[in-house]
Amino acid sequence: MLQMQSAKEPRVPDHPPPLIVATWSFSARGCRKAFPDLLSGSSALEVVCGVAREAEADPSVDSVGFGGLPDATGRVTLDAAVMVAPERCGSVCAVSRHLFVTDLARRVMERTSHVMLAGEGADAFADAMDMPSTDLLSPAAAQAWQRWRVGEPIGRPMDAGPTTGQLFATPASAAHAPAGFRHATERETPHDTIGVLAIDRAGSLAGACSTSGLPFKLAGRVGDSPIIGHGLYVDPEAGGAVATGTGEMVMGVNGTFLAVECMRRGATPGEAVHEVLTRIERRFRPQTHQQVALIALSRTGEWSAGALRSGFIVSCAQGSGTELLQPQFVMHPEDVVDGPHPADAGGGS
Ligand code: ASP
Repeated sequence: MLQMQSAKEPRVPDHPPPLIVATWSFSARGCRKAFPDLLSGSSALEVVCGVAREAEADPSVDSVGFGGLPDATGRVTLDAAVMVAPERCGSVCAVSRHLFVTDLARRVMERTSHVMLAGEGADAFADAMDMPSTDLLSPAAAQAWQRWRVGEPIGRPMDAGPTTGQLFATPASAAHAPAGFRHATERETPHDTIGVLAIDRAGSLAGACSTSGLPFKLAGRVGDSPIIGHGLYVDPEAGGAVATGTGEMVMGVNGTFLAVECMRRGATPGEAVHEVLTRIERRFRPQTHQQVALIALSRTGEWSAGALRSGFIVSCAQGSGTELLQPQFVMHPEDVVDGPHPADAGGGS
């Protein structure tokens, strides 16, 4: 299905072959669509934005873009980031009126002197960029929220949690919960983010990350995904990394920055991911329902992925086509916290 690059435009020697790696099975469709463009010379930045855009527009993906599950008040807010280098990155968070938040993050990077825009300011910037505004709440997501509110299962694959609408997630935070504030516990609401890394024919790296965040989160909560060095980090001198899972844990260890720093100091991508997950385990002692997974890609084109629990899947587009792959390692394979996504179109090319 996928064509090799044309003979007229040979790949620059000494660069790793073009590659896209992305989190979860629902990114496979975007990888499959974007890979021919990567082979024919599109930039890594263009391609990671395209892969993220595909998931953002897909109503069956309930953790990204339209179709994303709302916060505890029923409002969908989106977060995204793009990165090419420490001096070239952009992000947006708590966007409530615009769908293509990865493109918006790219515009922040390319059209402003800032890195991050939040909330209404980010939406206003999108208006100023002539990006169309839209209602982000899909009928299915609205129904899921209604079910969540009254304590019914919401029907996601791992929607097995016994509790609904509890006050805050942990006993410690519950002790400080203001009256009337409710949001989901992680046990009842697994959550996924699209994180994409690519290398283009010129050997340039880029990454993107896009999410609707933790389903039924406390209004105003922003996780790791749009924060540079947490959900996404890229440094052309070392490599790139993306994270998915419980954002609060990734944030506590600057997960993707740590992975890239490990590679800068000589670690393989697998060792780098292992170091981040080990650090998370040591500090947070995650419960068996909590998932964190990372993909790391070195500047020379080697990549690896690892997860705390079983269920994490990588979509990978390279010379032979697009495939769904298991991560290189799982710290606790006996614990399964997320399965293939319902939006999974059925695997590789
Ligand atoms: N990391 C995202 C967040 O915490 C969610 C996810 O990847 O599942 O917002």
